[in-house]
Amino acid sequence: VQAFAEASRAIVGASHVLGAAEDRARYEVDFWRQHGGTAALVLCPGTTAEVAAIVALAAAHGVALVPQAGNTGLVAGGIPDGSGREAILSLRRLDRIRRIDPAGDYLIAEAGCILETVQNAAGEAGRMFPLTLGAEGSCRIGGNVATNAGGNNVLRYGMTRNLVLGLEVVLADGSVLDLLRRLHKDNTGYDLKQLFIGSEGTLGIVTAAVLRLVAMPRERVTFWLAVGSLDDAVHLFAQLRNAFGDLISACELISSPGVELALERLPGLRRPVSEPHPWHLLVEVAWTFDSGLRERVEAELERQFAEGRCLDGAVADNEAQRRMMWRVREGQTEAAMQIGDVVRSDVAVAVGDIPTLVTRVFDRLPTLAPFATLLPFGHVGDGNLHMNFAVPRNTPSEVKLRLLDGLFEEVDRLGGSISAEHGVGRLKRDAIAARKSPAAMTLMHRLKDTLDPAGLLNPGVVLTPRRPFLDPD
Ligand SMILES: Cc1cc2nc3c(=O)[nH]c(=O)nc-3n(C[C@H](O)[C@H](O)[C@H](O)COP(=O)(O)OP(=O)(O)OC[C@H]3O[C@@H](n4cnc5c(N)ncnc54)[C@H](O)[C@@H]3O)c2cc1C
Repeated sequence: VQAFAEASRAIVGASHVLGAAEDRARYEVDFWRQHGGTAALVLCPGTTAEVAAIVALAAAHGVALVPQAGNTGLVAGGIPDGSGREAILSLRRLDRIRRIDPAGDYLIAEAGCILETVQNAAGEAGRMFPLTLGAEGSCRIGGNVATNAGGNNVLRYGMTRNLVLGLEVVLADGSVLDLLRRLHKDNTGYDLKQLFIGSEGTLGIVTAAVLRLVAMPRERVTFWLAVGSLDDAVHLFAQLRNAFGDLISACELISSPGVELALERLPGLRRPVSEPHPWHLLVEVAWTFDSGLRERVEAELERQFAEGRCLDGAVADNEAQRRMMWRVREGQTEAAMQIGDVVRSDVAVAVGDIPTLVTRVFDRLPTLAPFATLLPFGHVGDGNLHMNFAVPRNTPSEVKLRLLDGLFEEVDRLGGSISAEHGVGRLKRDAIAARKSPAAMTLMHRLKDTLDPAGLLNPGVVLTPRRPFLDPD
């Protein structure tokens, strides 16, 4: 590693090779400070050419690289193992927006651009980049692409995969694969960029992406509905979908304990409706006309109240009220962490199966861990729930694993996914391997072997390494 470090300095400059423990520290631990490792060093190249040179150098020295963008990933995919022999490859200095073409509906952003910066740049050009998630002030485009991030607007605009027109990728041998196409149609063989989207740094290093922009909605209506049961919540979503079609950009489910916890713990929040209710929906609809949508929403809500499915509701009158509704939705985990530990999850089932999943997990809680509180919330419109468990601080890890195992069993019974949008990383690698078919696992290993024959790109993430690592010098 010593020789590798020295040669790296010649490529990126000495100040961009971080070797001291205190300089490495913030790259070695994840966002919630729950998982960490130790790297030999952190490398911060500033251009695609520098990334390519570093990857070629790592290949020559047999040094494993852990790509990292904003380090907000939730499955420990962007942090090193405990060996102290891997090098973190931080993309944060590749932070230029290379081009914006509002008429062509795209922009080209480098991997280190913060998502929020990209959203703002698109907004200034009169367009919208619709990817939006709780970590948008910190996560970066390279990480969004590598995890195929989802977020709040998947219902209308799809996952990151649907928002990428082209990619620039550095391959494991240090060559640059230029797939920076700006085309909406291109059926010229295999769509290679899709291989890298969601590959979590195991098949190549994303250095830039052509991102699809959409029309900027001019009128947006955000409303909060209280319902008595999960069945009503799912039914109400279906009714709203019938009424508003693709104008619905978000439909989030929140449980009563989650709402009350956020109100109790986070300063300045008010319950959007006057009384506590068992379940809540936070819905956002938007269109490109200036006005007329709010009236349509109110008319539809009147119909729903008349049918008795909505118990209470509120429409945000201004941006401050809208933000507060979203803060209640986003703040639950933060609030739960103030009083104990949170066992997080990210599962998906068919939308119609959501009530069954939640009911079955509630029913199993007394045997899994009677002291745990289930706080389900999430993107109910696309079947993705974060079925989080609040547990007392220092709850033993075997109890936490038991809760997740119980949840995953119920997800399996319903033919769901145990990782809807956060990816596999190191945390879910074995759980995924136990669930995918042998044919699927073999194909995934073959792809890995083809693109990264020496196994130096993020080893141990997504797949268990099949061959021993080369010993770095
Ligand atoms: C508060 C909070 C809310 C969140 N909400 C959501 C949500 O709603 N939806 C959602 O999908 N996720 C969510 N996440 C998870 C996380 O924000 C996303 O996974 C995000 O896309 C990660 O981006 P990042 O830049 O932080 O990537 P990192 O954490 O740096 O990396 C994530 C993975 O991508 C790899 N990687 C990073 N950059 C590159 C690159 N340039 N080339 C190749 N591989 C690379 C890493 O090795 C790692 O495996 C949330 C996280 C937090 C903390």
